[in-house]
This record gives sequence, C-alpha cells and structure tokens, in this order.
Amino acid sequence: MPVSKNKIQLPSMTPGTARSIAWLRYGKAGARPKVYIQAAIHANELPGAMALHHLMPRLTEADRAGRITDEVIVVPTVNPIGQSQLVGNNHLGRYDLLSRDNFNRNWLDLSGAVAERVGVKLGRDAAANVGLIRKAAIAALKAMQPLNELQTMRVEVMKLSIDADIVLDLHCDMEAVLHVFASARDVTGAAQELAADLGALSTMYNEPYPEALTFSGVNGALWARLADRFPSAAIPQACFSTTVELRSQHDVTHALGESDARNLYRYLVRRGIIAGRAGPLPRLKSAPTPISGMDVGYAPRRGFLVYHVAAGAKVKKGAAICEIIDPADPRGARARTQMLARTDGILFSRKRNGALAWPGMGAFRIAGAKPLAHRKGMSGLDD
Ligand SMILES: [Zn+2]
Repeated sequence: MPVSKNKIQLPSMTPGTARSIAWLRYGKAGARPKVYIQAAIHANELPGAMALHHLMPRLTEADRAGRITDEVIVVPTVNPIGQSQLVGNNHLGRYDLLSRDNFNRNWLDLSGAVAERVGVKLGRDAAANVGLIRKAAIAALKAMQPLNELQTMRVEVMKLSIDADIVLDLHCDMEAVLHVFASARDVTGAAQELAADLGALSTMYNEPYPEALTFSGVNGALWARLADRFPSAAIPQACFSTTVELRSQHDVTHALGESDARNLYRYLVRRGIIAGRAGPLPRLKSAPTPISGMDVGYAPRRGFLVYHVAAGAKVKKGAAICEIIDPADPRGARARTQMLARTDGILFSRKRNGALAWPGMGAFRIAGAKPLAHRKGMSGLDD
C-alpha cells in the first residue's frame, strides 16, 4: 500500500493567510488496530518532529514490504497556527496568541455527545459497544461547525484520532529527561511497555484518568468517562492514549531522533501494528508513580534561577534543587532563596539556568512514589 499524503485545510483568519496540516496514512484506512501519532501541538517542541522525521522512512519501508496490515496515521507537526507565531525573533508555540489558550488544553470531551447519541444502545457486548462509541464520536465531531482556525484544528485532528486504538502525543519540556504521562487504566500494560521501549526515566499516571482536556487526555478519557456513566454496560478502555515527553526543547539531534524512531518502531512491532519481532522488552527504568506524588516547585518570589541539580537526578526530600537570586539585593548569599524538594524522587523536569522566576511559577517537577498532601486535588497541568 503506498503511503497516502493528506492535508487538512484550516479556515483563513486574515486576508492573504491560510494554513494547513499535513498528515500521512500508512497501511489501510479502516484497518485495525489503528495508531495515531502526532508531534508539536506545542509548536516549539520539536524533538517529536525529529523522531517522526526518522520514523517515517521506516514506516514507508515497512508499508512497501506489506508489513503494515493495519492503519498508522502520522501528523509530523500538527499545529500550523503555533508554527507561525514568530514574535520578535522568538518562536512562541505553547499558547495561541489569539485566544491565549494553551494549545494542549480544551480539546473536546465527546463523552456527553456520545452518551446522548448511543447511551441507550450500550449493552453487554463489548465489541459492539466499541463500534457504536467510535461511530458516535466521529458523528459528533462531524456535526460540529467550528468557525475559527483553532477550533477547526481541534475538530479535524480529533476526527483522525478519536477512533484509534493507540494515540501517542509527542511533546518535550524545557529541560527534562524522557518521561511519559498516562492514565492509571493503562499503566500496568500498554504504558509500561511504551515507557520500557522508549527508555523513559519516569512514568506518571493520572488516577483514574486526566481531568484536564489535553489531547491525549480526551482521546483516552472518552472510554473511561463512558464506562463510569454506564456501569452496567461492557465498555473497555479501547484507546491507549498517552503524552510522551521527549526530553528538552533543545534535545534535537539526529542521534536522539534516530534512537527514538527505532524505539517507537519496536513498540509498534511489539503491539502487533507492524509485522516483525520486537525482541525482549527492555527493563523499565523506574516504576510508574502517581500524579498525586508529583512535587511541583513553585517559585516563592521573583528573581532569576540557578539550579544545583541536573534533570534526571534522583533527589531526596529536603534537597536544594535550585535558588532564586534577587538581582537587586547586594548581600551576596543572603540574596538567594533556596527551593527544596518535598519528596524523594526523580527530578524529571526543570527550567534553565538564568530563567526568570516570578511568584507561583513552576520551577521544577519531581516524580515521587508517595501521594503528597499538598498536591491532592491539584492539576499537574497548571502551565
Ligand atoms: Zn508540550
């Protein structure tokens, strides 16, 4: 099957401008299982685009050899709105400058619309329910009439993803090690395999599923929310949807892209998407930990940051992670405010030395095993 190259045209927002989203299909439309992979919804996070740059030739070759009997959708850079946001020689890709929306929030929770359409038909036959739910979700998206570019992007992209069996959303952090966010419903199976194949240093899971409407959140939570809503119906978790954080923004090299592509490919082989032998599963580098155990260091005051600890380090509760220096305070060491770890765990993400800090700004994140009282009920997605 030749690779099919496709384009989503977005509505033009201003005279003389128009943007589109390129996407590719490997294998066969409608075949199962279906995998959906995208990168750069936060448009200035390009390690995922680099991984896909190296993965796509591998997929093309596998497809030509007839080894992809199902369907793989790849969207190498999903967010042309964010790609175009060049401001004063900087690429600002995290928030939509028009609506100020974070590009990875406010995706569409279709559980209500699906419940309305097919709720009464959901019974004890899990396979039948999966079919009904996928159809209803696509129908709900088709019924929407978005007017602007951002909403059209959300609707059209979800038409490609919402009926997939596996959804991989590739991101990165500012300075970070490879980590994975998943739902507790997947963490013992699909997510651990993915984390092991990718060599993730940390896997964190939401309990039971992410509340915030991130892209990976809405694709996976559709099933969990419907299962909660219709407890007597057999509704499986038919989509494994996850956010993969491919290290730091500046971690874009051919060596990393090539090894990430090799690992993603091996994962697809392991899941039976591509014919072949995956070989033994690499050892998981660290056990999954709950989002409620994730410590976020919020800056208590303004100043600039300098770190004592590199991303990826194992830290102990009470360890000094970084300090905020008040540039106007002439008292040397007394101008420094230390920020301490409040749990034992892996410092999986931080900002850069020299970054500006302001009160309440997240300066670092630590994946810890123990749920933390001060994190209960707090979203992990506050930036
Ligand atoms: Zn991101």
